[in-house]
Amino acid sequence: MASAEHVVASARAAMGREMPEVDLRDLLAANLEHPRWDDVAARCLTCSNCTMVCPTCFCHAVEETTGLTGDRVERWRSWDSCFTVDFSHLHGGSVRPSNRSRYRQWMTHKLGTWWDQFGTSGCVGCGRCITWCPVGIDLTEEVRAMLGSDGDPGREEHR
Ligand code: SF4
Ligand code: SF4
Repeated sequence: MASAEHVVASARAAMGREMPEVDLRDLLAANLEHPRWDDVAARCLTCSNCTMVCPTCFCHAVEETTGLTGDRVERWRSWDSCFTVDFSHLHGGSVRPSNRSRYRQWMTHKLGTWWDQFGTSGCVGCGRCITWCPVGIDLTEEVRAMLGSDGDPGREEHR
């Protein structure tokens, strides 16, 4: 037990950055129209790297194929990401067509609405999304930027 705690403490010390100790769910819910979403959207490539390496991301797609003879059907599940336009495609188009809406969906789900769904945060603090982001987006910085200004409590809006 002591050695497990030692490993956790070493990993924490090696991170080198911290998430602000505030109620992230409330902070994000109150800032759905914060200008920082536009700022991060201008940098985000929507490459989906962060979701591919995150240990708690689970979004997937299901594809079915049939053979020409009609006696064989295959159903495949494959990794997908909320950063792709097609992931939220419903009748008539994508629900989240912009970078802004997709990044916001990812971060507000990960840090906020996971609490409503699962009673815990969707982030374990591993930092892999930061390491693998090709443009250096750091979710702890994004949270800090929102904390730095009051932000207008916003209404959810997809754009
Ligand atoms: S890894 Fe970075 S650039 Fe790629 S989707 Fe995630 S935040 Fe955007
Ligand atoms: S730091 Fe959080 S959001 Fe980023 S990869 Fe790790 S668990 Fe996922």
